[in-house]
Amino acid sequence: MDYEPVIGLEVHVQLKTASKLFCGCSTKFGALPNAQVCPVCLGYPGVLPVLNEKALTLAVMAGLAMGSTVALYSKFDRKNYFYPDLPKAYQVSQYDEPICLGGKIDIEVEGTRKEIRLTRIHLEEDAGKSMHFKGDTGVDYNRTGIPLIEIVSEPDLRSPQEAYQYLKELKTILEYLDVSDCNMEEGSLRCDANVSLRPVGEKKMGTRAEIKNLNSFHNVEKAITYEIERQKELLSRGERIVQETRLWNADESFTRSMRSKEAAHDYRYFPEPDLVPIVFSAKEIESVRVSLPELAQRRKERFMKDFALTAYDAEVLTAQKDLADFFERCLKYSKNAKAISNWMMGDLMRELKLKDLGIAQSPMSPEHIAGLIELMDQGKISGKMAKDVFLEMFGTGKSAQEIVSAKGLSQLSDSSQIEGVVKKVIQENPPSVQDYRNGKKNALSYLVGQVMKATQGRANPKMVNELLVKELEK
Ligand SMILES: [Zn+2]
Repeated sequence: MDYEPVIGLEVHVQLKTASKLFCGCSTKFGALPNAQVCPVCLGYPGVLPVLNEKALTLAVMAGLAMGSTVALYSKFDRKNYFYPDLPKAYQVSQYDEPICLGGKIDIEVEGTRKEIRLTRIHLEEDAGKSMHFKGDTGVDYNRTGIPLIEIVSEPDLRSPQEAYQYLKELKTILEYLDVSDCNMEEGSLRCDANVSLRPVGEKKMGTRAEIKNLNSFHNVEKAITYEIERQKELLSRGERIVQETRLWNADESFTRSMRSKEAAHDYRYFPEPDLVPIVFSAKEIESVRVSLPELAQRRKERFMKDFALTAYDAEVLTAQKDLADFFERCLKYSKNAKAISNWMMGDLMRELKLKDLGIAQSPMSPEHIAGLIELMDQGKISGKMAKDVFLEMFGTGKSAQEIVSAKGLSQLSDSSQIEGVVKKVIQENPPSVQDYRNGKKNALSYLVGQVMKATQGRANPKMVNELLVKELEK
């Protein structure tokens, strides 16, 4: 029998606030364990939470950017469960009245566009982190109370590739909004996947497994692929799928059962009595909407229109906000947008990848890239020389002008000098000259090559071409 995978994702995103959701403790990553805690986030008796307004605004921004409806009335609830990293023995979350409802993320897989619906986005506090040592376990409460939004998708995804694209699009939106740093290594973006199978054509959902511990987009893709195969095999043997939570083991690439999945009633949700409901006016929501920054799609369209970039180039450059920012900074120093785009997408990205660096760590500044392009545009160096100069700029952090001056590199643009070489090459290559005059126009490129060789690649290729044609047509 043929089965169809049905996948939904739950993404937890730490919001970029200076302090926690209900207290003034710092959210900075990397402090000593339990250095950023207070009676509120440690859940001491008698303390009262105070809502962080910035977190609320960031959640609304995320919702609006994803096309959600921001609720005029929402409230917090207690989700009760006992776990050592949860000092209050409940998490303040949102149950039946979340801050955002609906919404969508557009994805594209193998040229096909598809809309993935969102169920909801809710605001909640993060839990602490258990740390396992040899024979002991410690708990770090620094993370306890950091604001999170949980973005829940409808089960609209049908393949591991779609799940991967969905996460990529989601991350791009969050980065453009600057609501989170989206750093998966530091845990500011975490994903759980719900996976089930059903016979093709069936409308009813199969029993699902929830997979946790997915710490990179590639692991999400791999874990879902594994889980689909595991369930397929069980079903083909006539066995039942158990509703459970499974953990992904990234080192050995398999999922294993962690616990049977809780249902909502296991958490005994009830309204948080220490916090007032969140009430917005339509005007307040509108004021957040008008303050939203330009998102990737709009920026892509602008790049195509203002800088005459192709759709593909504009897409690559705007897929990451910091890449698009870098591009626009280059434009402050050079107006040659096409050349900037070519250098960035070709040589710069290749070198950064080789060194495993992001654009933010680029040893070349936008000013330096633009400087290299200017030298080319002024005919001072040839394209071939520019490639070498680029590599040296990347390695040393020096400007193109510095390197060109120090090496005495410069393009030969003196027409009388080039003319001398052209005449010599014509004298030395009668067969090619004859070919050219007999109508074999491609003989020209051989002769151009000979002139370039004789000048160690320094001659201005455009002038070489013109002077050669002039001589040959005589
Ligand atoms: Zn605190």
